[in-house]
Amino acid sequence: MRRTVSIFGSTGSIGRNTVDLLCRQGGAEVYDVKVLTGAGNVTLLAHQAIELKADVAVTAEASRLVDLEAALAGTGVCATAGVDAVVDAANISVDWGMSAIVGSAGLAPTLELAKQARILALANKESLVCAGELVQATCTESGCILIPVDSEHCAIFQALAGGSNSDISRIILTASGGPFNDWTKSQMADATLEQAMAHPNWDMGQRISIDSATMFNKALEVIEAKQLFGVRSDQIEVIIHPQSIIHSMIEYNDYSIIAQLAAPDMRGAIGFALNWPDRPALPVDKLDFGAIAHLNFATPDEDQFPALRLARRVLKIGGLAGAVFNAAKESALDRFISGDISFLDMARLVESVLEDLHIKAGQGSSLDGLSAVMAIDLEAKERGFKWVPA
Ligand code: NAD
Ligand code: MG
Repeated sequence: MRRTVSIFGSTGSIGRNTVDLLCRQGGAEVYDVKVLTGAGNVTLLAHQAIELKADVAVTAEASRLVDLEAALAGTGVCATAGVDAVVDAANISVDWGMSAIVGSAGLAPTLELAKQARILALANKESLVCAGELVQATCTESGCILIPVDSEHCAIFQALAGGSNSDISRIILTASGGPFNDWTKSQMADATLEQAMAHPNWDMGQRISIDSATMFNKALEVIEAKQLFGVRSDQIEVIIHPQSIIHSMIEYNDYSIIAQLAAPDMRGAIGFALNWPDRPALPVDKLDFGAIAHLNFATPDEDQFPALRLARRVLKIGGLAGAVFNAAKESALDRFISGDISFLDMARLVESVLEDLHIKAGQGSSLDGLSAVMAIDLEAKERGFKWVPA
């Protein structure tokens, strides 16, 4: 019987790579594709849905329904639209579901997928940052197996084959350092959007690329690691590793370290999640250690990258601090992209919103439900949009 799959965010960077892997592994002959979702790019969404013979294609933008229907006319693929339609489409049982919508908009569909999918391939790290306990509790209740697709967490998941969570001494998350690793803070003050988007190693969506330049991405990943692997905050370390060959490491209590290494290509992590527990060949480069020659490491400078310091503050506050942090970061990113605030203002904005809301955040819990998380997400975003640079 063909395996049933859905991809949420199929038109994005992770989504396109997932579609590529499905096609290479037999496409519609091997997979029974239930749902594909996108937002503005309905032409690509329709193309993917026709190629994979999906049952349903959903655009999150209600105004795009007419275009999507036109692109799918006579193909047998059903078109729906709107934010609620995306969540409804996640309420369809599948063997494997990919959560690859960007931002906290991915939380509601992720929670539905966690109820309906046998395996949840989770790229949308924001779900874990905003509502890690709720996502985990939902998976536990439904029996859904969560496989992290974020390359660092996928590496940790793989390295855990060498021991168990209770044997972990440290999780060492590697970070490339992004495009500004060698820049001074005063150079970073004038960083442009184009410079911030130019990631040295990974080909990713615009938002996560800029988050890598500020290291907000790594800050989110510290919180993600805490939510996924149940270690103490002081057991998670970040190390700069500019080559992005070691995707992350676990140090066990006996100080033996298990690392996962591969070329920096997200199809490695996506393919791992797609094929787990099998490991067939993937269309990624083999490592040539003679050509690599050097693997470098450095301790990150938290004055240059305040996001890392703020991540620890979030873990200390607990409760819904992750949701506040992520929402403030999303508003900061929107404002930087629109040219409204400077590169360094992003961390200032996030710190300010986090301090404004830390008491409220500390009193909440994602286990209070999705609406509690989305309420504080909205409040933090509103404050972020009103924040005035000094
Ligand atoms: P992207 O911007 O390239 O794609 C995002 C997808 O989400 C698109 O399909 C888009 O149409 C859809 N989308 C955007 N806003 C939406 C909304 N409001 N409602 C519904 N759908 C919406 O992003 P990406 O780089 O593919 O990243 C996706 C997720 O994976 C993010 O959470 C990111 O942090 C994570 N991730 C990405 C990479 C990477 O290499 N790109 C690596 C690790 C983790
Ligand atoms: Mg990552």
